[in-house]
Amino acid sequence: MTIHNMQGIQERTRLDAQQEARTEPIVRPVEPDFPDFGDSGDRHGCDWDESICDETATHYTHCICGDPDCESDHIQYYCDRHYALTLALRLDHLRECKGYEHDEPCEDNRVVTLMHISDFGPLAA
Ligand SMILES: [Zn+2]
Ligand SMILES: [Zn+2]
Ligand SMILES: [Zn+2]
Repeated sequence: MTIHNMQGIQERTRLDAQQEARTEPIVRPVEPDFPDFGDSGDRHGCDWDESICDETATHYTHCICGDPDCESDHIQYYCDRHYALTLALRLDHLRECKGYEHDEPCEDNRVVTLMHISDFGPLAA
């Protein structure tokens, strides 16, 4: 294993710890359980990029990025149809993903999954 790979693994472990902390049960108001992405008033167009789609986005997906310097929020917005399609494609890909280095479920594999998709659901109306 190269030094570069070692660093990658350390980084993943760190990201994973952050994720762990973030999903710790927090006392929340009972109100809408939608993530606050800061611009909930805006309507998003569909981010589907394989064809032009003019629908208003109704759902989002989010993935974890392995790059600590990356400034993208990694949130993508989709209309109903493309959201369903995106999830299906993503799950399909995960079955064959070369990113999994182990055959069995383990922390490393969990992080690989999160880097493809870590969160998804409907947008606030
Ligand atoms: Zn990124
Ligand atoms: Zn669409
Ligand atoms: Zn993959």
